[in-house]
Amino acid sequence: MIRFDKVVKRFGDNVVLNELDFTVSPGEFVTLIGPSGSGKTTILRLLMTLEKVDGGTIQVDGEYLSHMERGGKLVPADEKHLRKVRRHIGMVFQQFNLFPNMKVLQNITEAPMRVLGKSRAEAEERGRELLEMVGLSEKVDAHPSQLSGGQQQRVAIARALAMEPDVLLLDEVTSALDPELVAGVLAVLKDIATSTEITFLCVTHEMQFAKDVSDRVIMFDHGQVVEEAVPEKLFTSPEHERTREFLHAVI
Ligand code: ADP
Repeated sequence: MIRFDKVVKRFGDNVVLNELDFTVSPGEFVTLIGPSGSGKTTILRLLMTLEKVDGGTIQVDGEYLSHMERGGKLVPADEKHLRKVRRHIGMVFQQFNLFPNMKVLQNITEAPMRVLGKSRAEAEERGRELLEMVGLSEKVDAHPSQLSGGQQQRVAIARALAMEPDVLLLDEVTSALDPELVAGVLAVLKDIATSTEITFLCVTHEMQFAKDVSDRVIMFDHGQVVEEAVPEKLFTSPEHERTREFLHAVI
């Protein structure tokens, strides 16, 4: 579902990703861990087409992200191609970024109506189902400012799901939350991961969550994969000293 092939990303002289290769299979839940500044967020931003690669290619569901095929050749993608590929991908951010002037339900229905062309009735019906899924049925008519951070984040998750993504990117989704609100958000995500076919790529510092929910964990440093394994293996008997050091520092 996701394929990075010799991906290079630089900011000036800073080589953030250095010929990075990795893949994520359909329906898999993969978590990226590693020290701050190692390039994890950059990977998610490349997938959201908020940044462009300096070398190599990225594919999502068989489609090139920054390139498109024309006459048997790969050429830089145009805006139309980017829009098409982006439709497969949803993202939930650290800051929930809800529309403050819209009620909860409208936050969820706006994009499906505008972008997917759904009718209001259809979008609202699905919106209510999704709010039930994230445990917020009673907040349909609330404004975001009337919700706790954890509730706002659950609305943001419902909003991302309303766009019917094949891939959902999670960027430190609990870091802005008070500690007592973290568990509720993680429980909702775990429930979605196990009950849908969505492919997840997650960046988190919540090692217990990574352990609980991931099919595979990738330890990442200096723009390269240090090692990858099922969580039971990576967290209990990592192969590399760098992984041991990192886990020792964060757990
Ligand atoms: P992580 O998510 O692992 O903490 P990031 O992907 O945010 O790491 O950052 C990787 C490196 O890229 C860091 O050295 C950071 O300073 C640099 N970087 C990220 N975004 C930009 C940008 N827009 N401009 C310049 N440097 C950036």
